[in-house]
Amino acid sequence: MPDPAAVAALTPPLACPSCRAPMASRAVAGHNGATIALDLCHACRGLWFDEGESLRLSPEGIVDLFGDLNAHKDDAQTPLGRAMACPRCRRTLAEGVDLVRTGRYFTYRCPQRHGRFATFAAFMVEKGFVRQLTAPEIADLAERVRIIHCGSCGAPIDLRQHDACPYCHSALSLLDPKAVQQALADYQARAQRAAAGPRAPDLADALIRMEKDRERVRREEQKERWQGVRDTDDLWAVGLSQVWDWLGARAKS
Ligand SMILES: [Zn+2]
Ligand SMILES: [Zn+2]
Ligand SMILES: [Zn+2]
Repeated sequence: MPDPAAVAALTPPLACPSCRAPMASRAVAGHNGATIALDLCHACRGLWFDEGESLRLSPEGIVDLFGDLNAHKDDAQTPLGRAMACPRCRRTLAEGVDLVRTGRYFTYRCPQRHGRFATFAAFMVEKGFVRQLTAPEIADLAERVRIIHCGSCGAPIDLRQHDACPYCHSALSLLDPKAVQQALADYQARAQRAAAGPRAPDLADALIRMEKDRERVRREEQKERWQGVRDTDDLWAVGLSQVWDWLGARAKS
């Protein structure tokens, strides 16, 4: 199999599904010594996974990715576009909600199964790297920043009025070093089990996709309400430096 990093260097960059600018290709560690070329748009705070790519991402690859996100966390941010286009076939990506133990998140899938686009925040929820904020933390945040973005759906949340997202009802969550540590350990164990035997067909994924279609209709209605709002803080980014410091300390020990 050709080295994906070398292939990425030779092929033109994929267009960001949201802003259509060329995405940055980043080679990160996959399972069994493989390399995966991820495509990131730092302006949109989003990343594209070709079909199955996120499953091949190893814990080491996730650490690589954290380093990249941390290096670009102060980049200028572009609000997400209304219609996402698949960087492979240009078809409109279908928006949907996925549920995991630590919360819910939005993801945008190509109907031709080329892959999916997710915001960094959604990816963090998906991988279990977040914890819910406590009531005192929300009160403290409300003192300092009035509005933050929901890590799940991107809606602005006025912290003086709401302690959860009024649109998608997600709890306010934060990147958490302890959650990252636990999740990386879980992924390591799961990778070892996966290496030991074949994967079952992804039934859960199919069920989630059915649920998502229902959610999408509701979301379309909600979207109108917060279109155009910006200049707010991104809650997930608050914990990024802290997590990166912890990962750096772990690498040195
Ligand atoms: Zn973009
Ligand atoms: Zn496609
Ligand atoms: Zn929300």
